[in-house]
Amino acid sequence: MENRSVLIQGGRVLDPAHGRDETADLLVVDGVIQAVGRLEAPAHCTVVQADGLVLAPGLVDMHVHLREPGHEYKEDIASGCRAAAAGGVTAMAAMPNTQPVTDDPSVVGYILERAKSTGLVRVFPIGAITKGLKGEMLTEMGLLLRAGCVAFSDDGRPVTDSGVMRRALEYARMFGALLIQHAEDLSLVGNGCMHEGVVASRLGLPGIPSAAESVLVDRDLRLVALTGSRYHVAHLSSGDAMRAVAQARAQQLPVSCEVTPHHFSLTDEAVLGYDTDAKMSPPLRSQADRAALLEGLAQGIITVIATDHAPHDEENKRVEFCCAANGVIGLETLLPVSLELVRDGVMSLSDCIAAMSCNPARLLGIPHGTLGVGQAADMVLFDPEETWTVDARQLRSKSKNTCFHGRRVKGRVKQTWVAGRSVYRDGHD
Ligand SMILES: [Zn+2]
Repeated sequence: MENRSVLIQGGRVLDPAHGRDETADLLVVDGVIQAVGRLEAPAHCTVVQADGLVLAPGLVDMHVHLREPGHEYKEDIASGCRAAAAGGVTAMAAMPNTQPVTDDPSVVGYILERAKSTGLVRVFPIGAITKGLKGEMLTEMGLLLRAGCVAFSDDGRPVTDSGVMRRALEYARMFGALLIQHAEDLSLVGNGCMHEGVVASRLGLPGIPSAAESVLVDRDLRLVALTGSRYHVAHLSSGDAMRAVAQARAQQLPVSCEVTPHHFSLTDEAVLGYDTDAKMSPPLRSQADRAALLEGLAQGIITVIATDHAPHDEENKRVEFCCAANGVIGLETLLPVSLELVRDGVMSLSDCIAAMSCNPARLLGIPHGTLGVGQAADMVLFDPEETWTVDARQLRSKSKNTCFHGRRVKGRVKQTWVAGRSVYRDGHD
């Protein structure tokens, strides 16, 4: 049996959930965090020197598309888990827009079984809000929760019908479950394929206004006020929606939201040159929207950074811009791109790591994202100073549709552990 006892020596131990940020040693025994402080290595214990490195909770990504079952040519649970481990992600929540849709306990069981046999990182299925993601009949949320779902979403599509959304919120409230909305008014999206603005006009591409998002968020927030249910906006992209969420949180409504690295670091100008790896839903928006997202992160209104990791094969991406599939991969670039927020003075390293660990874990109700004594040792060790260039061909994901290809980034994962077991180390799985 593999040694799951390890002493990580001399690193900067960062555990936002417990307000810890200090140089210390951390001891793992049998996969569980045993002690943090100045420690001697017990017998038969692997020692890892971590001088100059940061030891943080394994990242928790609450928004990924693993494409299995149904679209394994784009990604499967095994390849998605390898990409996650390389990115320092030790737990991820898988969106239900698979084939078949995760709207039935049997699909939940299948995903959990596949994840377990892969044995790398933790996978938590998100159940569909409506059967077949059709926006009509609610799923059996109680059964899905019992099978292992941690939240509900029709992601990829919004819940359009206000009556259905109200009933979904009321139903989820019976279980205290979190509803995650892909907030887009499809009648405003129309045939748009990028953000509506000067760049779209210049490129001659049909646009999607920011209002497509904020109109739906505004409606949902009224329904949250009516029902008191827990509500989360996926991949927030617009300033107006950010301000609406801010107002709702100020009124103590149980509302949260996430932002992706691509939305806070890029704008619609990335589409110049018709690069289909800059095409996603919602689209990259204006500089003003991006500034508002940074403001939301700085003020603690946006408390989660999630990738919306959405693998697509070449056949769906190497086509005319308007025909290309929406989405980009993100698991292996999550950490370094997010660390830009720290370098740019938007947020502290502790708040940045919290947005990728304990904050999403709390929303999902999973006991991860911390380095507390007694917790499973899910950890990432990274060099905050190492500079490298993102190369799509080097990424572990089956699909290579990253919008960060060629970007110089700083911060590199050195090792990742799940329950004390090393699942990635220095460029090796
Ligand atoms: Zn979505």
